Amino acid sequence: MKIRRIAIVGGGTAGWLAANHLGVELSRRPDIEITLIESKDVPVIGVGEGTVPRIKATLQKFGISEIELVAECDVTFKQGVKFSGWMTPPKNGCNYYYHPFSPPYPGGFDLTNYWLNNSEALEYAQLSDFYSLAQENKSPKRVSSPPYEGVVDYAYHFDAAKFSGLLSKNAREKFSVKHIYRTIARVEKSDDGSIKSLIYSNGEEQEFDFYIDCSGFSSLLIGGALGVPFVDKSGQVKTDSVLVYRKSTEASEEILPYTLATAHEAGWVWDIPLTTRRGLGFVYAADFMSENRAVEAFSDYLGCDVEHGDLRSVPMKIGYRDVFWEKNCVALGLAQGFVEPLEATSILVTDFAANLIARNFPDDTHDIQTIADHCNPLVRYTWERVIDFVQLHYCLSDRRDSDFWCENTEAPKLSEVLERRLGLWQLQPPQKSDFFSRFDIFGPENYLYILYGMRFPTKSKPMGRQEAEKYREIIVKVQGHSLQMSGAMLSHREWLNELKKALNKG
Ligand SMILES: Cc1cc2nc3c(=O)[nH]c(=O)nc-3n(C[C@H](O)[C@H](O)[C@H](O)COP(=O)(O)OP(=O)(O)OC[C@H]3O[C@@H](n4cnc5c(N)ncnc54)[C@H](O)[C@@H]3O)c2cc1C
Repeated sequence: MKIRRIAIVGGGTAGWLAANHLGVELSRRPDIEITLIESKDVPVIGVGEGTVPRIKATLQKFGISEIELVAECDVTFKQGVKFSGWMTPPKNGCNYYYHPFSPPYPGGFDLTNYWLNNSEALEYAQLSDFYSLAQENKSPKRVSSPPYEGVVDYAYHFDAAKFSGLLSKNAREKFSVKHIYRTIARVEKSDDGSIKSLIYSNGEEQEFDFYIDCSGFSSLLIGGALGVPFVDKSGQVKTDSVLVYRKSTEASEEILPYTLATAHEAGWVWDIPLTTRRGLGFVYAADFMSENRAVEAFSDYLGCDVEHGDLRSVPMKIGYRDVFWEKNCVALGLAQGFVEPLEATSILVTDFAANLIARNFPDDTHDIQTIADHCNPLVRYTWERVIDFVQLHYCLSDRRDSDFWCENTEAPKLSEVLERRLGLWQLQPPQKSDFFSRFDIFGPENYLYILYGMRFPTKSKPMGRQEAEKYREIIVKVQGHSLQMSGAMLSHREWLNELKKALNKG
């Protein structure tokens, strides 16, 4: 049977990303009708404000202009993440490191071995152009930079609700996605176990040929109706609770050009700058910290009593569905899985999986199983590697000041792949050939920054005097270039103000 009617259940970021991906890819099939259903009684999760650079390609694919995004979603630019306090403080230096989005290969050279020989003198992130811009709160774009391009790579921080709103408008206006408000009360199945119809709380029943489950942590269709088991990963990533808070900022305050991730005794705090406020989250492992202690430590971080503000506790389920595609249903977003917010992996995986199904979307119900069997292992592999990458940040630490850090570092339960890779990387630094699958969505650059930001002990290889001198000169040049570039750029706040002025004039 030809697939003509697609239901997307859920109007959060996942639902609207799916609507746009399907809208673009299925524009060749005018007979297909896409309907997005969301409930007025079940609110969206309302968090998810950090992204990675891949989002730019997605937005361009959807035909969304960067100016529209920046103007409508309280956007600031994210050039990477600054990790503070993830290691024991060194005697003479700062206890932070960066994970920039720009590669650490100045002039195309891999200077890692030089750095390993000289790591006392230089932070690893200083191999990237990004460094001075980050240190001086500069914008990654010139006023004249073309859309979606900067002098260094970047992603965005945005207001989650406004971002969903923009995706929604785009999907409805450009791809004629239908949008209805209904609360699903029950799911009816066919004899073959696939989903037949949705029954709404007003008693109405509606049939579709294919269902995309974006219902958030409730996982209404894939988990609820189809009973696909949840693969629990809390043994690897132990942070399962979060307190969320918003703090307004003054128009005169500097805006950080990165996400600040500050470790504490049982997790970490994210601090995301938007144009008029900071979005903050105190992530912790409930087995190691009580909620009362979390509130106290969060208040200390912010220098104010968070209990008297707009504080929200959000539970997190760490893991993913055993398969993301079962019969005529695919799950995306939180309905599919979640690790924790470190490194902003959720929108990334959602976007990747939504793109995957849209590009491979079956024409006919007979084709479903073949395509599902092809896609399921890819998404599973992606999740496994995302979990490795998040766990890396914890297991490499030399902090032993709390049970949480001891448990994460002394005998961590690692995947076979991560264990093998860490063994290899004691002998040599990560390189492209260690990442043989393109479904490794974090590659050598990402690992290099984390490993060497956290002082991972890779054996250095001896270098000849000439080679060392050549590399030293390259580094001096990079640092000079980075400083010069930074001097010529507007501050992050100034750039955003310039855009505002231009929009007001226009
Ligand atoms: C604490 C936290 C921090 C995060 N930070 C980041 C980050 O920085 N970067 C990042 O990439 N991701 C982050 N994420 C993940 C990000 O929030 C999600 O990927 C994103 O918001 C997508 O959520 P969703 O659309 O899957 O679910 P939701 O936003 O929860 O949407 C669920 C939708 O399903 C609908 N629904 C549910 N039940 C029914 C029903 N019975 N009938 C009809 N409709 C129904 C609801 O109405 C709603 O529209 C974070 C997540 C958490 C928990």
